[in-house]
This record gives sequence, structure tokens and C-alpha cells, in this order.
Amino acid sequence: MSQTPDDAVRTYIEQHSTAFLDDLAEWLRIPSVSAQPVHAPDVRRSADWLAAKLLETGFPTVEVWPTPGAPAVFAHWPSDDPEAPTVLVYGHHDVQPAAREDGWDSEPFEPVVRDGRLYARGAADDKGQVFFHTLGVRAHLATTGRTAPAVGLKLLIEGEEESGSPHFRALVEERADRLAADAVIVSDTGMWAEDTPTVCTGMRGLAECEIRLHGPDQDIHSGSFGGAVPNPATAVARLVAALHDEHARVAIPGFYDGVVELTDRERELFAELPFDEARWLRTARSHAAHGEAGHTTLERVWARPTAEVNGIGGGYQGPGSKTIIPSSAMVKLSFRLVAGQDPDHIEKAVRAWAAEQVPAGIRSEITFSGATRPCLTPLDHPALRSVVRAMGRAFEGPVRFTREGGSGPAADLQDVLGAPVLFLGISVPSDGWHAPNEKVELDLLLKGVETTAYLWGDLAAHWRHEP
Ligand SMILES: [Zn+2]
Repeated sequence: MSQTPDDAVRTYIEQHSTAFLDDLAEWLRIPSVSAQPVHAPDVRRSADWLAAKLLETGFPTVEVWPTPGAPAVFAHWPSDDPEAPTVLVYGHHDVQPAAREDGWDSEPFEPVVRDGRLYARGAADDKGQVFFHTLGVRAHLATTGRTAPAVGLKLLIEGEEESGSPHFRALVEERADRLAADAVIVSDTGMWAEDTPTVCTGMRGLAECEIRLHGPDQDIHSGSFGGAVPNPATAVARLVAALHDEHARVAIPGFYDGVVELTDRERELFAELPFDEARWLRTARSHAAHGEAGHTTLERVWARPTAEVNGIGGGYQGPGSKTIIPSSAMVKLSFRLVAGQDPDHIEKAVRAWAAEQVPAGIRSEITFSGATRPCLTPLDHPALRSVVRAMGRAFEGPVRFTREGGSGPAADLQDVLGAPVLFLGISVPSDGWHAPNEKVELDLLLKGVETTAYLWGDLAAHWRHEP
């Protein structure tokens, strides 16, 4: 039997996997914890380490970009094909804090392999998933005889993701010219399960606010004044009660304006996933599922917008009783947004709605913070089709679709660069992100390498640059 192109890729990866894993282990030994100031030099060392490795991989341009916080690493390898698209890979080189005494079975920054799994802080989130791109592009070149990748390849690996990416948006805006790309591939997510490879097609956005209602100028006696003046705690409770209708739909007028509804095909694809609601509820630590009528649990967390009360308070909360009408009360709300929703429009809708609800004599103060736009790539987008084909070749089976209910800095790349965002991850739920004993499955890590070895050629073949 003659060797297929896929055999050649697999052989190449096999021949280089030991050196690849040794290099990754070296990187994982650097405790690049962005949240802890004592590790700031390590985060810088991690950026320098990656920059050196990317140069060694062959990227002609590699730069460490400083920010007011931790540095990011940028690399660019242009294609020799002027009509090929350019892809920007996003990931991060900082990690969550970790200490042996948190419950690790081995030192978090001393990588070990047990039962085909590599254990270390950052193994899956996100150093492993950044690093597979290095061997992937080399396998792509070696097995196609090319000297430059089939697509223009850029990498932006930030150093503050685990600290909320405080300087990321500004960095992307400042360097937008250098980062210009036709698509963004986020390498910082996972798939459904070991035996169910999936591609994530979108992330929800986020808008957050605090509503503070002010009544009397100070706490007043509930006997002398109660029943004759408005109570701000009651007003907050009414506001919260008015947030949803009896079908658990958000009752704020205009909230659903523009929402991109799921297509029948998307609903079918979600339903095909091996979803076990009882198991999901155990993970959720919840005793029941509840949400918008007419939608399944997966649809609710992936594709429907929400309004949640994150905190509520007001008045006396100490021991015993205190017969007052409190001077003020508050609620913190967050809204997960889906494609088609605009955080600015949501803010206006919430303000108008709250103004309607609040009775005379109560003054409201609403502060919005932390808006993130949603992102969604249509199933028929050529770049998404390439990711699915490449992953299908690597995993030798069908690839399904998921979405992400959370929100992330990838949306900034979509906003500023005006490019669709795709998610390519090989991590699985058992990898223990942010938890003790974080690990990555070695066979899946190498499937990640293999996926990218196919991806760049597939993209260039199916998606030509519009001049
Ligand atoms: Zn991450």
C-alpha cells in the first residue's frame, strides 16, 4: 500500500513528538501566573521563551509586545501565495495560580506524564493548545514540500488572559494593522468529549450593570413612616420580579431585538450531541433545570440571551431585627448576549425599562460595565468548513458543533479586525482547567498538531482571498 498524505503527516508527527513534548514541558516549567505580581518576571520569561521557540520553528517575524501589564507574543509567517487568506491564531501564555497543597498529586510546574496524560498547570489552558501550532505548521511544510505556509499565518499569544485581559483590547486596537486577518482561530477552548470531536462556532457576549435605588435620605423608622413612603428594597424586588415573564423570557422591551434565531439545522445538530441532562445537572450543582420555554438546556446556555441576578441587597442584614425603611437597595445584573444583540442597545433598553418600573420618590442610579460582544460564525463559512474537514481527517470521524455560553476576549479581535472568529480546541471537560491536576490528553494534543497540519492547505485550497 502506498503512503497517503495523511500517513506522511502522522509519520512526521510521530518522529517529532518526543522533542515537541520535551519543549512543551520546558515551557510548562515556567510559572507564568499573571494574577500574582511575584510571578511577573516569569510571565516575561514565558513570552521570551515562546518568542525564541517560534523563531526556531521558522516564523520570520517574531516580536514580544509589551503592554502596561504582561507582554504578548506576536509572530507572522506570510504565505508565498498572494491570493491565500491570512489567519490569526489567538491563545495565551499566562496560567492560573497553582500550588501543590491545593490538591495536586505532583508539582504543578513540574510536568509529568501518567497514563498518556501530561499533568501541569497550563497543559491544556493554554500552553499545550498554543504549542501544537508549532509542530503543526512544520508538519504542514515538511509534508507538502512548501517553504512558507499555504495561508498567511499570524499568532497573537497574550499574557493576561487569566487576569481578565485588561490591556488586550487596547493592544489589538493599537496594533490592528499588524494583526489584520481574514479569520481568527481561537486556540483556547475544548471539544465535547474524548470520543466526540467538536468545533465551537460562537460565544455569547456579556453586559453587566448595577442598579441602586435610593429612597429616603437615610434609614427611617418603619413605625413612624412605614406604609406612607416608597421602600427602595421593595422597589428592587419588584424590578427583579419584572425581569422575566411566566415563560422565563426576559421581559425588558427591546431585549430580543436583532437576536439571530437558531436554524432548524442548528437545533438538530445540538440535539445530536450525546447530552446527558442528569449528568449536566450534577456538574451544574443544581437541583433542577430551568429556563426559557421552548428551548432545550443546550440551546439555553449556548444560543439564547439571558438576564441573571448576580447579587441583591439592601437594608438591615445583621442579627435580630431593625425596624427601618432602608435608604437604599441594590441589585447586580448580568446579561449574556447572542449574535445580533448589541451591548449598547441592551444598555438603553435596560435603562428605559428600569425607569418605567421605579415608583415616584425612588431615584435610580444605573452603572454599566464590562461589555463584551457575542460572536457567531455561520456553519457554511468557508473557514469553518475547513476547520471541520481538517479535524475530521485528524480524528478520522464526524465532527460536530458546539457553542460556548461564556464570553471572552476573542470578541475584541472580531470587533477590531472585522474578521470571523473560529474556535479550534482539543481540550476535554476532564482536563481540569483552573483546578488541581490540570492535564492534557497526549493523543488529543497530537490530534491538534495533526489538525493544523491539514488546516492551512485546506483553507488555501477552498477560500481564496477576495482582491
Ligand atoms: Zn485559557
